[in-house]
Amino acid sequence: MTNWFRRRYLKHTVQLLPRSSDTPTWKLIISQFNTLSAATQDCTVDSQFTQNSWHVKLHPNLSYQAELELHSLMQILHRLSPIPEIPDTRVLLHSVPKFSTSNAYQLLTYHGALWKPAEYVWIHTIPQNCKIFLWLAFKDRLNTKANMVSKCWSEDPHCPLCPALESADHIILRCKNANSLWEKMNLLHLANHSESSSAFLQAVVDRNHSNRGIEPIWFAACAYTLWKARNNMIFERQIDNMQFIIQQISDTLKLRSMRANEATKERILSWCAGL
Ligand SMILES: [Zn+2]
Repeated sequence: MTNWFRRRYLKHTVQLLPRSSDTPTWKLIISQFNTLSAATQDCTVDSQFTQNSWHVKLHPNLSYQAELELHSLMQILHRLSPIPEIPDTRVLLHSVPKFSTSNAYQLLTYHGALWKPAEYVWIHTIPQNCKIFLWLAFKDRLNTKANMVSKCWSEDPHCPLCPALESADHIILRCKNANSLWEKMNLLHLANHSESSSAFLQAVVDRNHSNRGIEPIWFAACAYTLWKARNNMIFERQIDNMQFIIQQISDTLKLRSMRANEATKERILSWCAGL
C-alpha cells in the first residue's frame, strides 16, 4: 500500500487508478483521497517517514477538504511503514483526455487551494470597484491610519472616533458606525467577536440558511458604505448618521440587484425591505 508513497512524485498532481489486485486498504485510499497533492516535485516518500513515523508535508495552503483527507490519511498511515517497492500505476489528475493543452495549462498554473474569502469577492452582482475594495479590506491593504503609519505616511495610527488602531477590520466590524449597523441587524455580538471581516462574513454565511447566496452581496454593500462614511468624515468633515448609511446601503443594493438574476434580485429586495 505504501509503495506509492515511496515513489518519487510526478511533477504535478497525480491520481491513482484502482486495480483489481489492490488491497482493501489501498482501495480505500484511492476512493477517499482525490485532492492531496505534493508540495514540491521533489517530494519523496522517504522524506515523509522519519524517526519511525509519518510526517506528511504537502501543499502549505490546504483546502478544508484536503485537511480532512490528510487527517484521515494520517490515521491510516499510523499503523504502517514503508515496504519494498513494486510498480504502481499513476496518471495525471486530468485523465480524460489524457493529455491536452488545457490540462497541461491547469497543471502548470495550479497553486493549491483557493483562498476561501475569494469566492465572496468575485461575484457578478458586486461591481468592480467594490470587489477591489473588498479584496483590499480582507487583506488589510486599505489606506487605513494603521497602514499609513506602517508606510511612514502618517504618525497617528488611531481611529478619529475611538481609542483603537484604525484597521480595515476595525472600520468594518468595531467602529462607531459599524457597531450601530450590526446592532440593527442583530449581528453586533458576532461582529465584535470575529477576528476579521472575512471570518465575520464566513460566520454569517454558515449560520444564515434562509437567504443563502446573497450574504456576500449585502455584506459588500455594508462594508463599502462604512468605508465611504469613514472617508467622508476624514476628507470632507462630513458625519454620516445611521439613517443615511442605511439608506445608502439600501439604494446601493437596489441598484446592484439589476445585475442579478430574478431569484437573487428578489432576495436582495426582500433583504432591503427588512432594513
Ligand atoms: Zn473607530
